[in-house]
Parts: sequence; C-alpha cells; structure tokens
Amino acid sequence: MSKNPAIVWFRRDLRLKDNPALTAGVESGRPLILLFIDETDAERITGAAKKVWLHYSLRSLRNDIESKGGKLLIRQGPAEAILDEIIEQSGAEAVFWNRRYEADSIERDSHIKSSLTARGLNVETFNGSLLTEPWEIKPKSGGDYFKVFTPYWRAASHIIGPRIAQHPPLEVPKKLDCYKSNIGSDEIDWLPKNLDWDDKIITDWEPGEAGAHKKLKTFLDGHVEDYEDERNIPSNKSGTSRLSPHLSAGEISPRQIWQAAKDSGKTVDKFLSEIGWREFSYVLLYHNPKLATDNFKPEYDTIDWRDDEGGYDAWTKGQTGYPFVDAGMRELWQTGWMHNRVRMITASFLIKHMLIDWRKGEDWFWDTLLEADPAANSASWQWVAGTGADAAPYFRVFNPFSQGEKFDKSGDYIREFVPELKNLSNKYIHQPWTAPNHILAQAGVKLGENYPEPIVEHKAARERVLAAYKEARGS
Ligand code: FAD
Repeated sequence: MSKNPAIVWFRRDLRLKDNPALTAGVESGRPLILLFIDETDAERITGAAKKVWLHYSLRSLRNDIESKGGKLLIRQGPAEAILDEIIEQSGAEAVFWNRRYEADSIERDSHIKSSLTARGLNVETFNGSLLTEPWEIKPKSGGDYFKVFTPYWRAASHIIGPRIAQHPPLEVPKKLDCYKSNIGSDEIDWLPKNLDWDDKIITDWEPGEAGAHKKLKTFLDGHVEDYEDERNIPSNKSGTSRLSPHLSAGEISPRQIWQAAKDSGKTVDKFLSEIGWREFSYVLLYHNPKLATDNFKPEYDTIDWRDDEGGYDAWTKGQTGYPFVDAGMRELWQTGWMHNRVRMITASFLIKHMLIDWRKGEDWFWDTLLEADPAANSASWQWVAGTGADAAPYFRVFNPFSQGEKFDKSGDYIREFVPELKNLSNKYIHQPWTAPNHILAQAGVKLGENYPEPIVEHKAARERVLAAYKEARGS
C-alpha cells in the first residue's frame, strides 16, 4: 500500500542540490508535496527588489522540479493555515523544512512543529543555509557566543572543514515522485506594479540554481586568487563573487561554496572568511533578535539623530553632491546591488555626515537590495554606525571623496553611474566643487543645476557627528 504524502516546505532554500529537507523527503519514500508559501504572517515584509529576485528564482526552481518529474505548489497566506489546509486535503503524515533564524520565524516554526507533532505527524527540520548553527560555537572563555569576528571564525573554521570533509554537500535527487492531487497552486507574480525597475534590475543576473553555480565557477576559475587586492575596487566587476543574491535566496549553500573553493586548490582563505562574516551575522541575529531595530551597544541609544527628509531623499536618489556616494546609491537603484566598499561609504555618509538614524538606511537597503538579508544587512549597518558587535569605532568617519580617490582612481565607477560628470578629469571628478569654473564649463557640469553642490560640508559634518556620539557616550 502506498504511503501517505510528505510535505517539503521550501523557504530560503530554492535549490535541489544540498537541500537536506528535500533529501529527507525523498528518503522517506513518501509521495512528495513540494510547497512554497508566500508567507503573509512574516513580521517583516520581503523588500521589493528581493521579491523581483524571488519571482524569477521560483520560476527557475519550478522548471528544475518539473524536469525531475515533480511539481511545485505555490500558496499565499499565513504559513500555519496553509500547511493545515494541505495536510487536511492530502492526509500528509510528514513535514520537512530547513530552518530560518529570524526571531518571528523561530517562534512561529516551533509552534507549528509542536502542534503538528502533537497531532502525530513526523516533523523534521534541518540546517540548510549556514555552515554551523548560530548557537553552536561558544568561546572557551565563557559566554553564549563570540562578539568578535576573528576568534569566532578561527573556532568555526576548525569545525567546518572536517565536518564538510566527512559529510560533503548532498547530491540532487534523481527523481521527484510527487503526490498526485488537485490541490490548487497560486501564480507567482511578485513584480512591482508601480516601480520602474522590475525587469531592468535583473538583466545582468540569472536567478536560480544554475545561475548560482555558474557565478561560483566563473569566480573560482577566474579571479578568486586576486580577491584580497581586487575586492575593494568597485569598477572591477569580477573582483568579488557577486554570489550574494543567490546565497540569500538559498539557490546555493555555503557548504557547496566552501567545498568548491577548497577543491579549486587556490588560495581562498580571504574569500571564505567573508562567508564567515555571513555566518557571524547570523550568530549576532540569533542572539540579538532585534538586531534590525535595537542598538547592539545601548550606550548609543540617546544619539540625537537629525530629522531631515530632504537630505534622506537626496541620499536615496544619489544626489548628495559627493560623486562616489552618488555613484553607489545609483548603482543600488539601477542594479539592485552595490559594491561592498561603496556600501560602507554610502552607509557611513548617511549616518555620520548626515546624522540620520542607521535604521532608515537599513530600511532603504532592505527594500532595494536583491539580496536584502535579515542578518547581514542589520549587522553591517550596525557595524558602520559603530553601534554593533566588533563594529567600526564610532570616531571612524569615512571621507567620501578621498575614499573615491583611493578606490576609484580611474573614476570609471563614477563615470558609469554619474554620467553627468563623465567629462571631468580624474583630478576633479571626486571633488567637482574644487574645479575652476572654466573646467566645469568645458565638462558641461553646472553645479547646482545638472549636478548638486555638496549637501553638507565634510569637516563640519565630521565635527557634528563626533560631538553627537560623544554626548551619547557621555565622554
Ligand atoms: P563577496 O565579497 O564575493 O563575498 C562572498 C559572500 O560572503 C557574499 O555573497 C556574502 O554572502 C558574504 N559576505 C561578504 N561580505 C559580507 C559581510 N560584510 N557581511 C556578511 N556577509 C558578507 N550582504 C548581504 O548578503 N545582504 C545584505 O543585505 C547586506 N547588506 C549590507 C549593508 C551594508 C551597509 C554593508 C556595508 C554590507 C552589507 N552586506 C550585505 C555585506 C556585503 O556588502 C555583501 O555581502 C557583498 O557586497 C556581496 O557581494 P559579493 O557576493 O560579491 O561578495
């Protein structure tokens, strides 16, 4: 007699390979119900750019599933109600999923698990998105978790290497035998209706598992050994892996990246340590569930942030008058991604030069990054603000033009995203306000007309933020 079905609940693990929940479903020998829920009960709504990514990623997953003889069911609504409905309709006796680590997911998923288990279902959950569990690695000196990255990563790496050697990433199931039923599926349509960037931001990307593996291969075959030197040059499109949107949707697992990087036989430690920062962000999120809203260091709770809607708007639009900052913000809007070095500068500019609350910037990135991540985004914003764990010191105020002169020497990055300055020479492109009038005129730049004057003066802004932070710290 055939067994009752098992539900495999896809979440941020939109892949067939190295997917422990899917493998468990297949190994159960039950007919499968492969389910994705557009969860309407999540505490934080998925950002608009990430929805565009997931829209295409789900299509790709659906095709991959169909090519293995299976079917992907997509439903929209509160997760528990949808699961209950499908269990009722199908008589499913098992549910498998890979864990998430946002506080509201943990609470909701634990509740679902105990309620289904109490009704006699077999529920199993797995780690499908991290190299180790965020509660696993504890400092020998005491405490629940590491608050400093370097010793954390040293301890974590010792565990990860042998563990992956012993349990390498899982293979793709050969066949997906799915439960035959008339259970209805919703259509995927997550493209925004009122924004002008839906298809455009995805042009240079290939969402889905195949695209993720191509990106990894290109990077490992190509520039991984130059990573340490090239990762800071934003005009170099192959200086970093650009895996972040793929990782964030779970189209590839960090275990697969680790193994492929090690198997390449190349020098990959620096690259893998950045994957380590992703892990560390999840440690911080797990132990600080309010990482996106509450300062990790409460001594900064009383900073007197400025309320400056006009300034904030100029920042989001890349109209601050600081070309390196503006190039970054426009790269984000136009492509859904921004180079890490420029993320640090643009974030620092908002927080330190404009004295605007880091949470407003975090929110903007959440909505506009293809890879907006609950752990990495908030941990990184807090890092820049100086309010986070192992953060940049509060008195580090990135100079927005000398950073450009250092990391965009050729001016190519600025010329790509701020084309109104493209005819300025390298001498003036980072600080157009210092150029003599005739040079500006020759380059077709009219400050205050076709490109803004600096929105704030660097030295004065620096003094203002240092005073504000000192006051909050009481020193
Ligand atoms: P690579 O340099 O090739 O690194 C490989 C992978 O390591 C990345 O894909 C990413 O998963 C991880 N990684 C690299 N740097 C970091 C880091 N500092 N913290 C955590 N993980 C890291 N990353 C996100 O994935 N999602 C976010 O929402 C996000 N928001 C950020 C906001 C700010 C203000 C800053 C300064 C950084 C943010 N980052 C975020 C981290 C980092 O900028 C991106 O992960 C990286 O730029 C992605 O490009 P890549 O894939 O080419 O990275």
